[in-house]
Amino acid sequence: MTINLPPRSAALYKETDVLVVGGGPAGIGAAVAASRSGCKVMLLEKRGFLGGNITASYVETCNHFMHNLTFQTGGIWAELETGYRAKFGASGDIRPNAANRFSSEYLKVFLDTFVGGAGVEVCLHSFVNEVVMENGAIAYVVIQSKQGPLAIKAKQVIDCSGDGDVAFAAGIPFDQGRDSDHACQPGTVNFRIGGVDAAFLTEGGKDRLREIGKRFREDYRAGRTGLACKRQDIPMGRLTAAGIVSYINYPCAYGIDPTSMADLTRGEMECRQYILEICDYMKKNFEGFEKSELVSIAPEIGFRDSRRFHGEYRLTIDDVLSARHFDDAIAVFPQFYDMLSPDANMNEGSPQDAGYNGYICSYPKDGLNFEIPYRCLLPLGVDNLLIAGRCISADHVAESGIRAISACMYTGQAAGTAAGLALKSDTKPRAVNVKELQDNLRAQKCRL
Ligand SMILES: Cc1cc2nc3c(=O)[nH]c(=O)nc-3n(C[C@H](O)[C@H](O)[C@H](O)COP(=O)(O)OP(=O)(O)OC[C@H]3O[C@@H](n4cnc5c(N)ncnc54)[C@H](O)[C@@H]3O)c2cc1C
Repeated sequence: MTINLPPRSAALYKETDVLVVGGGPAGIGAAVAASRSGCKVMLLEKRGFLGGNITASYVETCNHFMHNLTFQTGGIWAELETGYRAKFGASGDIRPNAANRFSSEYLKVFLDTFVGGAGVEVCLHSFVNEVVMENGAIAYVVIQSKQGPLAIKAKQVIDCSGDGDVAFAAGIPFDQGRDSDHACQPGTVNFRIGGVDAAFLTEGGKDRLREIGKRFREDYRAGRTGLACKRQDIPMGRLTAAGIVSYINYPCAYGIDPTSMADLTRGEMECRQYILEICDYMKKNFEGFEKSELVSIAPEIGFRDSRRFHGEYRLTIDDVLSARHFDDAIAVFPQFYDMLSPDANMNEGSPQDAGYNGYICSYPKDGLNFEIPYRCLLPLGVDNLLIAGRCISADHVAESGIRAISACMYTGQAAGTAAGLALKSDTKPRAVNVKELQDNLRAQKCRL
C-alpha cells in the first residue's frame, strides 16, 4: 500500500554551479577539483563531519594494501596525504607502515580546512534524497533539513553519496550486490580499544598485532574461537604509545541491504553484540590485551558496496585483470579485488565464478594496474549528473577494487574536473572533450 503525500514546497536555499552530495573520499575529490576549476561549489554531507567511511566507520588504513608497491599516488589524494602528514605526522602510530594510516579524529579536523580552504561551501547535516527533474536534468536537489525541505539549484550535480541517493532519486537504474542473489558484502561496525600493552606489542621492532591477527584467523578457521560473528579475520590499525588500538575491523553483519532501514538497524545492533563478545575474547586470548577496554564504537555501520548505477560503460573484473586500455581513461590504479564473502563462506573463491561463493581477494602486485573510463561516471538518462566513488558503473567484483579510498577520490577528482569543463564550454558532462579532461587531470598530477 502506498500513501499519497500532500503537495509541498521547499524554500530555495542557494544556487550554485556544482553541487556535490556526500563528503567522503569521492566527494572531497569532486568538490575540491570543481572549485579549483573556477566553479562555485557546494558540498552536502548528511553527517556532522567529512571523510565518509574513513571517519564515520574508522577505516583509517586507507592505502595499507599498497605498502609494498612502487605505485605513486597522485592528484588531490597525494596532496591530502602530504598535508595531513605535515600537520599530524604518523598520528601517534607506533606500528610499521604508519604512513598508510590516518587518525579519523585528526582527519575530521584536517578536512574542514582542506576542503573549506579550497573555496568549497560545506553544508553538514544535509541529508538529500529528493530531486526535482526538468527536461531530463536535475533542476533542484532537496535537502531534508531540520527546518523542513530546502532546495538547491545547481547547474551540475555530482553524486558521491556511496549509496547513490541522488541517482536513485533521479530514477537511474542500478544493480546491487552479487548478480545471483543481490547480496552485498557484510556491513561492519569498527571500534577502538584502549589499555593494551603497547610496549610489549612492539618490543624489539616486532608487529605483534599482525601476529595476533594471523593466529586469530587460524584459530577461527579451525573452529577454536567459539565466537558468534562469522568474520574470520581481525585486521587492526593504528597502535599508540598510550595503548589505543584505534581501528579494529571485525564485527560483521551479513545479509544486510545497505539501503534498508530495517536491515541497517539489525546490522548496527548485531555488530554491537559482536563487539562486546570480541572485547571479552581479546582480553582472555590476546597477549598484551589483558587490561584492554572498549573505548568507542564507530558512529555508523560501514559498507564496502551498495547500489552501482548503470552508466555509459560498465567496468568488469575482466577489464581490471586484463588491464584493458580505455581511450577515455580518467584514472589508473593498482589491480586488485577484495570481496568479503556475502554469505560468510570462508573458502577461497574465484572472481571468474559467477557465484564466487568464497572470500575473494587479490592484493596488488607491482607494475599491474587497471584503468577506469570516464563513461563509468556518466549515468544513463540524466544530463547534468555525474557519479563518483563506490557507486559508479561497474560489476560487483570490479567494484571491490574501485572501492579503494584513494581510487574513489580519483573518480571524484575526475568528476569535479569534468563538471568544471562542462560548465566552461556550456555543454553536458557526456559531451566534454575527453582529451581536454585528461590533459587537465594530468596537469593536476593525476596518474593516467
Ligand atoms: C569496514 C570497512 C573497511 C574498509 N577497508 C578499506 C581499506 O582498508 N582501504 C580502502 O581503501 N578502502 C576500504 N574500505 C572501502 C572504503 O571505505 C569505501 O569504499 C570508500 O570510503 C568509498 O568512498 P565514497 O566517497 O564513495 O563513499 P563513502 O566513504 O561511503 O562516503 C559517502 C559520504 O556520503 C554521505 N552521504 C551518504 N548518503 C547521503 C545523503 N543522502 N545525503 C548527504 N550525504 C550523504 C555519507 O555520510 C558519507 O560521508 C572499507 C570499507 C569498510 C566499510
